[in-house]
Amino acid sequence: MHPYRRLRMAMASAPGTSACAACRVLRRKCTAQCLFAPYFPPDQPQKFAHVHKVFGVANVTKMLHELPPPHREDCVNSLAYEADARVQDPVYGCVGAISVLQQQVAHLQAQLALTTSEIARLRETFTIAAAAAASTSTANAAAASGALLMAALQPRSPSQTDMTTNTTTTSQQPATSRPA
Ligand SMILES: [Zn+2]
Repeated sequence: MHPYRRLRMAMASAPGTSACAACRVLRRKCTAQCLFAPYFPPDQPQKFAHVHKVFGVANVTKMLHELPPPHREDCVNSLAYEADARVQDPVYGCVGAISVLQQQVAHLQAQLALTTSEIARLRETFTIAAAAAASTSTANAAAASGALLMAALQPRSPSQTDMTTNTTTTSQQPATSRPA
């Protein structure tokens, strides 16, 4: 190894004299005015490596120059996020993660709608049972409210519990609905 190169490597790895991650990859001297140093610390070499690989140092330099300094850190962090995602998923990049999250949101919204309608159904059944208990004799009321509660707690038919086809309340006929 050339003595000068050995000296440069020793300086780069010495504490307190660390070049930023960008200057290390680009094999250049890291000055106090280095554009990348505030955003690519030497202990995160992967961050710059991915950004460099996906966007290229010339594009990143141009983007940072066009932004006021207060916005540069957010820009670099979003570039790093997008670059990491692109490295992990070369086809979809961060769009893949967004798509998965959107599917999860849709699935959870459907689940929430189902649970909300189930709560409404149970609440209605309990109200009917309580009214029946109050208006009839003690023995009959117990039997009537028991039967209503059993009906309310019975599992639904498969078509009603199917998440993919049931997204609205159109099929949410209360099992125990009857004229008041
Ligand atoms: Zn630097």
